[in-house]
Amino acid sequence: MTSTRIAGRCLCGAVAFSVDADAFDNRTACHCAQCRRWSGHYWASISGPIDEFKVDTGEDKIKWHQSSEFAKRGFCSECGSSLFWHGHKLDAYKSRIAVAFGALDTPTGVTLDQHIFIADKGDYYELADGVPQLDRE
Ligand SMILES: [Zn+2]
Ligand SMILES: [Zn+2]
Repeated sequence: MTSTRIAGRCLCGAVAFSVDADAFDNRTACHCAQCRRWSGHYWASISGPIDEFKVDTGEDKIKWHQSSEFAKRGFCSECGSSLFWHGHKLDAYKSRIAVAFGALDTPTGVTLDQHIFIADKGDYYELADGVPQLDRE
């Protein structure tokens, strides 16, 4: 059985990765304060089983920041691109990984499913794209 891969990379290209297009079926923009600070705005990601995620180049260039007691965030140590979110200490999330939507090669062929943590969103923008909005997750 063949599967379609979606490829992504950081700004400088030191880190390149790919995910299975069918398995990565959760597409979310998170407006929580952590995602806003980490990304510079809000962080859009596509998530799925970590088994269907592969680092193709630059595994050694990825640095992980423990951003809370249950999750860590991966970024390129060369250029600083915000790439991955892994809830490695949460039962519901530890077998999954979220990768930056903005790091994917276009066309991705997919669109956002939902905005989450709207209750924490910045006060300097409005969302009028018609995508469902959840106060939390
Ligand atoms: Zn980079
Ligand atoms: Zn967030």
